[in-house]
Amino acid sequence: MFIIHQLPRLQFLHIPISPLTTRKPKKLYLITSTLLSNPTPVSIPISEPGPASNSVTVTTSLSHFSTSSSQSPPQENIQLSLEKLFVPPETEVSSSENGVLSARILRGSNIVLSKYAGGGAEVVNAEFVKSSVTTEDCPSDGLPEFALVGRSNVGKSSLLNSLVRRKRLALTSKKPGKTQCINHFRINDSWYLVDLPGYGYAAALHEVRIDWDKFTKDYFLNRPTLVSVFLLVDASIPAKKIDLEYASWLGQNQIPMTLIFTKCDKRKKRKNGGKRPEENVQDFQELIRDFFQTAPPWIMTSSVTNQGRDEILLHMSQLRNYWLKH
Ligand code: GDP
Repeated sequence: MFIIHQLPRLQFLHIPISPLTTRKPKKLYLITSTLLSNPTPVSIPISEPGPASNSVTVTTSLSHFSTSSSQSPPQENIQLSLEKLFVPPETEVSSSENGVLSARILRGSNIVLSKYAGGGAEVVNAEFVKSSVTTEDCPSDGLPEFALVGRSNVGKSSLLNSLVRRKRLALTSKKPGKTQCINHFRINDSWYLVDLPGYGYAAALHEVRIDWDKFTKDYFLNRPTLVSVFLLVDASIPAKKIDLEYASWLGQNQIPMTLIFTKCDKRKKRKNGGKRPEENVQDFQELIRDFFQTAPPWIMTSSVTNQGRDEILLHMSQLRNYWLKH
């Protein structure tokens, strides 16, 4: 149970499933999230016909720092079917005799936790190392790295600062001459967060954009220490074509990708029929479904409330620890 005590917030899912061979009425189960301060698995089956078989409703809290249940904020439900979960390698979503599936899922995400989660998840120190203009220029010490990429204004700098708990570290990447570079930040002297240039900036010169495209794609394809790309998508607005294209390119080139949905605190419905973050997140999944063989991992975040911060770090730890072992 070492991992459990290390982890900030988990959902325990106990998902009753029907044997594949039977045609029982479809059921929807409500699974409430639990905090680690109260690690008892909770499962509340609702015996009503539902829209999808073997589906679960994962309760996603949008601002959930408080570990005191009396101060729990309002919660939003996201419905996930089992095949939409991200199950890391060497991870069992175990099924008991009475047909109950058991998994530990990161809150506000579709990510099942593996035995690799936990070690070194906390950021103890972070330092800017260098800006590179080509993949070959990047640090050559062989440490594993995660690349953050997204449309300009998606909230990449804010997220980076929130991850490392430093207000202005990401400003380094915004200094003149560095916005179009691959910027490496070393974390705990053992891994890198890599800030890549934002894309889709309307005012950027056409040539600059093409150049950037070439060099970023070269980095994705030829950087052996790249563990996963973290593609940031603004959840407060409907999916943008350029984000879908980006996700599609990563999928087609089999670059490991985690989707980070940003600005999930922006909850007001817009007058022009705008959707809530949960709906935009669901829509985005649907739109990219065909680009991936299995559902990519995703996490809902907010740099204003710090939602998702610890979850991202924990997910990074499980990817990194697995990568180091193989
Ligand atoms: P970047 O261009 O991707 O680095 O984006 P920034 O981090 O500079 O953020 C762009 C704008 O979005 C700024 O005005 C931020 O204050 C705002 N922003 C970033 N993250 C969030 C968030 O999680 N919630 C809200 N409401 N605003 C955010």
